[in-house]
Amino acid sequence: MLRTKVAIIGAGPAGLLLGQLLHAYGIDNIILERRDRGYVLARIRAGVLEQGTVDLLDQVGVAARLHREGLIHDGIELAFAGSRHRIDLKEATGKSVTIYGQTEVTRDLMDARDSCGLVTVYEADQVEPLDFDSDHPRVSYAKDGITHEIECDFIAGCDGSHGISRASVKPSAIETFERIYPFGWLGILSETPPVSPELIYSNHARGFALCTMRSMRRSRYYVQCSLDDHIDQWPDDRFWDELKRRLDQEAADKLVTGPSIEKSIAPLRSFVAEPMRFGRMFLAGDAAHIVPPTGAKGLNLAASDVHYLSRALQEYYDEKSSAGIDHYSEKALSRVWKAVRFSWWMTAMMHRFPDTEGFGAKIQLAELNYLVNSKAAAASLSENYVGLPY
Ligand SMILES: Cc1cc2nc3c(=O)[nH]c(=O)nc-3n(C[C@H](O)[C@H](O)[C@H](O)COP(=O)(O)OP(=O)(O)OC[C@H]3O[C@@H](n4cnc5c(N)ncnc54)[C@H](O)[C@@H]3O)c2cc1C
Repeated sequence: MLRTKVAIIGAGPAGLLLGQLLHAYGIDNIILERRDRGYVLARIRAGVLEQGTVDLLDQVGVAARLHREGLIHDGIELAFAGSRHRIDLKEATGKSVTIYGQTEVTRDLMDARDSCGLVTVYEADQVEPLDFDSDHPRVSYAKDGITHEIECDFIAGCDGSHGISRASVKPSAIETFERIYPFGWLGILSETPPVSPELIYSNHARGFALCTMRSMRRSRYYVQCSLDDHIDQWPDDRFWDELKRRLDQEAADKLVTGPSIEKSIAPLRSFVAEPMRFGRMFLAGDAAHIVPPTGAKGLNLAASDVHYLSRALQEYYDEKSSAGIDHYSEKALSRVWKAVRFSWWMTAMMHRFPDTEGFGAKIQLAELNYLVNSKAAAASLSENYVGLPY
C-alpha cells in the first residue's frame, strides 16, 4: 500500500501542472496515467496560452523554453465579407497571448516532474477512485497485471472528459449541462510557415476557418466540417482548396501549402458538470468541463482550475483551514461559466449553422461589424480572449 497526500488521476496539462504546484507548496502527490508517456506527448491539441497560464508555468519554474520559443501575439484578425480586421488585444487590455503547443507544455511539465523525482505511474490500468465520501479515500490501479492501492488525503480527478473520476460519482450527486454543435473542426498540422503573423478567424458562407500556428515553421489550420465527414474524404489537396476558398484573397494568395503531418476531426461541444467537489475528490480541467476550441479556452481553464485547487490544498495543509477546499467548486465554476459563455459566443458568431441563412447570417455580419468598429465591443472580446483574472 502506497501513501501520498494527493493522488492525481491523469497526466494531461491539468494533472501535471497540479502536481508541480502542489510540489512547490510542499504537498506530496502521485500521478496515475492510463496511457504511456509517448502517447500523451503525441496528442496535438491546444496552442494559445493566456498570460495567467504562462504565469503559473513561470511560478513552477517550467517556462524557460516557452519564453525562448513561444510567440507573443498582441492581436488577432477577424475575416468576414472579403476583408480582414485586426483586434488589438494589447491595446485593449495591456495583455497578450502566447503561442506554444500543448505538446510542449506537457513535455516541459513531464521533464520538470522527472527532475524533481516525483512519481508518475504510466500505463496504469483499471484506475478507480474509492471511498472519496469518507475521510480515508483510496485509489486502486493495476500495473503489469498486479493490483495496487494508494491511500491518500484527497483525489484530484484530472482525467479528461472520458475519465473514470466523474464517472465514479453517483448520478444523483452531479448535474450536467451540455450543448452539442451540429458540426466539427477538421484540422491539419503542416511544416509550413503561417499565412499571417497572427491568428485569422474567418466567418465565411462556406463555413468557418481558422489559421493558427505552433511556430514560425509549423502551421495549424482548421475548417468547419460536417459531423458525418471522415478524414479519408479529405486528402490534403481538398483541404487546402477549401481553406483558400474561406479566406480573403490576400491570405489565399499567400498561403503556403504542404503535406499534412497530422489530420483529425474534432466534434464541438460545451459541457459543464456541477459541482467540482465530491467529498474528498475534486474534478479539474476537461474532467469537469469542455468548451469548443473557438475561444482557445480548454487548456487555460485546466490551468485556472488547478491554480484554485492547489491554493485550496495549500491552505488546508499550512493553515489547517477547509475554507479553500469548501469554496473550490464555486470559485472554479464561476470562471468556467464565463469561459463557456465566451467560447459559445465566438462559436455562434463565426460558424455556419443549419439555420445561418438569411437572418442568421445578417446578424453575424452585424455583430462582426460592430466588433471591429466599436472600441467597447473589441475590448470585451479582448478581455475574454486574453483571459479573465483569476
Ligand atoms: C482533439 C482535441 C483538440 C483540441 N484542440 C484544442 C484547441 O485547439 N485549443 C484549446 O484551447 N483546447 C483544445 N482542446 C482542449 C484541450 O486540449 C483540453 O482542454 C486540455 O487537454 C485539458 O487538459 P486536461 O489535463 O484537463 O485533460 P486531458 O488533456 O484530456 O488529460 C487527461 C489525461 O487523463 C488520462 N486519463 C483518462 N482516463 C484515465 C483513467 N481512467 N485513468 C488514468 N488516466 C486517465 C488521459 O490519458 C489524459 O492523459 C482540444 C481537445 C481535443 C480532445
